[in-house]
Amino acid sequence: MTARIIDGKAFAADVRAQVAEGVAQVAREAGRKPGLAVVLVGEDPASAVYVRSKGKATVAAGMESIEHRLPADTTQDMLERLVDQLNADPAVDGILVQLPLPGHLDESAIITRIDPDKDVDGFHPVNAGRLATGLPGFVPCTPYGCLLLLRDVLGDLSGKDAVVIGRSNIVGKPMAQLLIGDSCTVTVAHSRTRDLPAVVKRADIVVAAVGRAKMVKPDWIKPGATLIDVGINRTDEGLVGDIDPACADVAGAMTPVPGGVGPMTIAVLLRNTLVSAARREGITLAK
Ligand code: NDP
Repeated sequence: MTARIIDGKAFAADVRAQVAEGVAQVAREAGRKPGLAVVLVGEDPASAVYVRSKGKATVAAGMESIEHRLPADTTQDMLERLVDQLNADPAVDGILVQLPLPGHLDESAIITRIDPDKDVDGFHPVNAGRLATGLPGFVPCTPYGCLLLLRDVLGDLSGKDAVVIGRSNIVGKPMAQLLIGDSCTVTVAHSRTRDLPAVVKRADIVVAAVGRAKMVKPDWIKPGATLIDVGINRTDEGLVGDIDPACADVAGAMTPVPGGVGPMTIAVLLRNTLVSAARREGITLAK
């Protein structure tokens, strides 16, 4: 068998086109564009690339991009004051503080300071709680993008065995919550899991979010399974995922790296910002 390669780039372009229509509706009905504020502290090159591509995508969707670049020696107090100012600014619908922050800053205190109703990254504990209890809120962009891809490939996910490898707050845990929400039987694996290959072998759906190049091997995969590769690993051969591409010989469908999950993350960020603007303006989106 050769797996269908899931074209995350094309799917993300569809999501972004739909977002652009919603943005036009908000602009018509509220007389203003939705606004996304992105805060970057310091000079981390990977973060700078992410911030630039988020800014470009925001503008391409017809929204206002508000960028704040702060020096690496920014204090906790200065950053908190900026977050307070963005919380209070009516032109700002979404606030994203690019992580990781320089080591001297308290990341968790900053995330908690963001107004949960502008927390388009979905990292605030209030939004994590809403997701866990089935209340509407903002869902972290990467796992939500994975869910959209899975629904597109498989349709109804009900009753499927899903294994999520990784238990971080930004990918693994929310991914597990989303799959439970879609009635999968979910196993969350991590570095202490015993016999990971055997655990993965049971799965109809595998989501790998570890950060170890090509860790998941073809002989771990149940024939026909759907594989979602969140991993981004920079190696001598370039960018590779957590799933060995040779798994395509066994799987039914899988995402490539790059061009799979990555583009979906930004598309969902734009969608979350649009939804925030519509809520704040009391607008019901046509789509
Ligand atoms: P973290 O480092 O926060 O979490 C990694 C998880 O993998 C941990 O739960 C860890 O377990 C687990 N793990 C580590 N080693 C093993 C192992 N040998 N076997 C099983 N599990 C293991 O990473 P993130 O969740 O933030 O990100 C994961 C990957 O996804 C990274 O490559 C990151 O770059 C990428 N990423 C991609 C995005 C995209 O847009 N495509 C967005 C966000 C992340 P334990 O908890 O026990 O330590």
